[in-house]
Amino acid sequence: MADALNPKRTIAELKELRSFTGDENGAQRVAFTSTWAKARKWLRSKLELLPGIEIHNDAAGNFWATLPGESSKALLIGGHIDSVPNGGWLDGCLNTLAGMEVLRRIDSQYRNKPPVTVRLVDWADEEGARFGKSLFGSSACSGKIDMNETRGLKDKDGIRLVDAIKEHGIDFERVKDSANELKNAAAYLELHIEQGPVLLDLDLPLGTVLGTFGVERHAITFHGQAAHSGSTPMNRRRDAFLAAAKMSSEIYQIAKRSQEGVCTIGSCTTKPGIVTSVVEECRITLDQRHLDAKALAKMLSEAKAASEKFAKEGDVDVKWERIWNIEPILFDSELINLCDAAISETGANPHRLPSGPLHDAAEVARAGVPTVMMFVQSLHGISHNKIEDTKEEHLETAVTALDKLADKAMSWIDSR
Ligand SMILES: [Zn+2]
Repeated sequence: MADALNPKRTIAELKELRSFTGDENGAQRVAFTSTWAKARKWLRSKLELLPGIEIHNDAAGNFWATLPGESSKALLIGGHIDSVPNGGWLDGCLNTLAGMEVLRRIDSQYRNKPPVTVRLVDWADEEGARFGKSLFGSSACSGKIDMNETRGLKDKDGIRLVDAIKEHGIDFERVKDSANELKNAAAYLELHIEQGPVLLDLDLPLGTVLGTFGVERHAITFHGQAAHSGSTPMNRRRDAFLAAAKMSSEIYQIAKRSQEGVCTIGSCTTKPGIVTSVVEECRITLDQRHLDAKALAKMLSEAKAASEKFAKEGDVDVKWERIWNIEPILFDSELINLCDAAISETGANPHRLPSGPLHDAAEVARAGVPTVMMFVQSLHGISHNKIEDTKEEHLETAVTALDKLADKAMSWIDSR
């Protein structure tokens, strides 16, 4: 008889992984460290038990375990076993270990020969915790990695990324060869802990992710005139802080009008920055995110118009500079439907939501592979912290739903 899916085994394995790669402060599987390498070795030892499996690392250090099928068209299931320092016990490794459990079930059911090829990928350095650049392995694979920028990255001890990855057998100049792995990719699935409170507030275990937010990130500088705080009457001031401060409540209105967007003023610095002077220069940063490109553009133009209005009211100047931006990345509509159906079959109500953070899945989608993600509820809505947690019954439902989704995706690939 075929081995059935065993979601309880995934939970036991998550705890086992935590026991030798974490400490009292949380998970310590930072990519390209010895603890990360130990976690990878452990993963490999488990997967090697599957008859017929082929395992290798690609040119960017991504780990691939392949069950060759009747068709070379491949279903990919992905995750990342790396963590931030003092990370949670689920972010990234839940995806990888749930994927391993699904591979076991498929291997056993089809006696080592599934109808389509099924592959588990453990991406290298999703978190970017050490070198400050996330999605290293998946962006190399998608071809979107910025080689010049990445080549110059160093960690806090001055060690270059290029040298650190060499110790793990990776030649930086060849990382884009990883793209070969996507040659026959027909669909990509990823389960992930939500990292926010949406499913918690709705009291739902699982959600279907529509895509990742587009981001507009800008610095806005207001420029007025420094003046003595005692001798300058209120009606004679050109107060840069006053104009900037009006933006604070305005962005809440802009976000509200956009329906589902979010806006954040994350920093504010003033010059001269002393208690006895009106502010001459005030620089704030604005981060705006939306799943819809048009709505994101509208949020940005509304913020620009507001800043000009407030500058005029206060007789100050305003200047904008873009820090970074990325377009929204939408997942595949047919796989989104299949994900809803898989969630329903576990008895849970499906719910669709966008992802605020970027994920490896976004890189795979950018490479043109039909992609969908499934979120499982996060108990405190908090991640990148040792208090990150999910109810065990929800983890079990998540493994079951991912398994059902994998089945549906295999039939979908086969029928195309
Ligand atoms: Zn993650």
